[in-house]
Amino acid sequence: MSNFKLIVIGGGHAGVEAAMAGARLGVSTAMVTLRKAGIGQMSCNPAIGGLGKGHLVKEVDVLGGVMGRAIDTTGIQFRTLNLSKGPAVRATRAQADRELYKNEVRRMVEAQPNLTIIEGEAAKILTKLGKVIGLELADASVIDCEAIVITTGTFLKALMHTGTLQTCGGRVGDKASNSLSDSLRSLGFELGRLKTGTPARLKRSTIDFSKLTEQPGETPIKPFSMMSGRIERPQIPCWITETNEKVHEVIRANKEKSPMFNGQIKSVGPRYCPSVEDKVFRFADKTSHNIFLEPEGFESDVVYPNGISTSLPADVQEEFIKLIPGLENVTIIQPGYAVEYDFVDPRNLNPTLETKDISGLFLAGQINGTSGYEEAAGQGLMAGINAALKVLDRGSFSISRSEGYLGVMIDDLTTNGVDDPYRMFTSRAEYRLILREDNAWQRLCPRGLEIGILSDEQKHRYYAMNEQFSRGKDWFNNNRAFPNKETNEWLQSIGSADLKDAVTYGTLLRRPEMRIDTLFEHYSYEGEINQDLKDALQTEIKFAGYLSRQEDEIKKLKRNESLKIPNTFSYESVKGLSSEMKIKLAKVRPVSIGQAMRIPGVTPSALTLLSVHLQR
Ligand code: FAD
Repeated sequence: MSNFKLIVIGGGHAGVEAAMAGARLGVSTAMVTLRKAGIGQMSCNPAIGGLGKGHLVKEVDVLGGVMGRAIDTTGIQFRTLNLSKGPAVRATRAQADRELYKNEVRRMVEAQPNLTIIEGEAAKILTKLGKVIGLELADASVIDCEAIVITTGTFLKALMHTGTLQTCGGRVGDKASNSLSDSLRSLGFELGRLKTGTPARLKRSTIDFSKLTEQPGETPIKPFSMMSGRIERPQIPCWITETNEKVHEVIRANKEKSPMFNGQIKSVGPRYCPSVEDKVFRFADKTSHNIFLEPEGFESDVVYPNGISTSLPADVQEEFIKLIPGLENVTIIQPGYAVEYDFVDPRNLNPTLETKDISGLFLAGQINGTSGYEEAAGQGLMAGINAALKVLDRGSFSISRSEGYLGVMIDDLTTNGVDDPYRMFTSRAEYRLILREDNAWQRLCPRGLEIGILSDEQKHRYYAMNEQFSRGKDWFNNNRAFPNKETNEWLQSIGSADLKDAVTYGTLLRRPEMRIDTLFEHYSYEGEINQDLKDALQTEIKFAGYLSRQEDEIKKLKRNESLKIPNTFSYESVKGLSSEMKIKLAKVRPVSIGQAMRIPGVTPSALTLLSVHLQR
């Protein structure tokens, strides 16, 4: 078999971004995946984005990633969540046409130069003197390489549960990946077990929509990708229904048949995406839970009932689903199930997502204890970039907590590890107002340019956006409104106070009730400017004082990050450091004093001792 510099194992959301990033950086890359037809497959709900997750998609996109473009091309319904809240926490979410999304991702992968797809099962990581040298497949063939990114999602030693029925496999229709799990163990990695679950799929034509509340998409559509123009497609509505006491009674009566509660499933599931049986027992006082009925595509007759993931036996699922308004006569196409799988403690990883002990071995996606397509894509991109830079001998690439959610996620994972599947939220970021969806291009395109991962088209788009933004900013800073009759009448008509002195348009925009569009319209702004640019400009002007205080805090953070700790550093050599601190620090092996500060339980005095020792 031919040799490649980089091998990416897996063609899910992490694998696709990793392989594409490696190939875009000019490295000969192979994607080894169990089934070509499974590339870009959404294992669970057909949707991209959401709170905190939308931010990740935008960051992946501005670094040249695939996810944003794929969903813009194949989305069937787009919405902005938290629209009534502040700009930091607004998030884009879109429903995908599941088949079209997968096909679009595969099309992009197949069209990418330097990238070869190999259908097969990766079985063993080959190493020599602590370095990756190749990959052995299950058919015993060997591919030589210099770096590997493993992105095997929920597949390692995967076991699916529907009631007492247990089947080996990473998701319905796919097998489990057992040898690779053993290979990782034999390389010295500690593997844990986690669990996730999915609901039954329903036949759309058997749902009584007359009883349900419609949830339409939003217009105009706000795209995810900085490369997408206006999206004019018609959108498909979702529908809202809910569980009720009768549904809960059936679930309670079958507690002993639930693998979640009878001891059959031992691992921990996603805290923020609980199964319906979890909800019924944990929130016993609630008499109903919302269910979003999400069509799986423009032409599809499949509906995904978001909110009732379950591993109860198929007959119990049928019984409780038919008690839900609108679903009385529904046909179940496929019952829900839970899946347990092995994951690797992400504290084994550097911020580049390279393992600390095996040079050239990178891990990304659900294998690191995360849940969700967006978290997987973000890690895949970062691991792919770093693996490529490594084989090119071009250093490394990381993003700090103050630059992006990608940095927040990777720092959280590599510093704290995970107790349950990690999901991104805006509350995880300290510098939320700086890390907005609308300015992802401003924050991270320059970083993409540094490493040369942006296409010429994307570079031009970035320069054009920069120019449009500066023009808008100059307009606000350089033009003044005067306190005359006409201005004050206009201000009164929009519920704003009279002007007493001449002020810049920027000062007017800082009034809480003032909107950027109102000023653009009243003073006839003629520059080209899209919605993201308008949002970014409005926030930058309105919150200038607050943003500059956050910038000061970031400067302090950067000072701590710049004091590096070598990977081979011996904590035993630090005089006065307690054994408890030595154990905590040695477990994580932080790369900087900044990271050491974020390890739970590491005391200020331990940090002082460490800093003094390092500075010496
Ligand atoms: P995957 O998308 O799982 O991709 C793994 C890839 O690795 C596949 O292409 C597979 O073929 C390949 N592969 C595996 N082993 C090998 C091997 N040995 N050799 C070659 N290729 C291999 N996320 C949520 O956020 N919320 C949910 O409610 C949710 N529910 C889920 C329910 C189920 C049943 C499943 C299976 C997943 C669920 N997820 C959920 C998780 C979501 O699917 C993942 O987070 C996301 O797909 C992870 O992306 P990934 O790229 O890490 O892995």
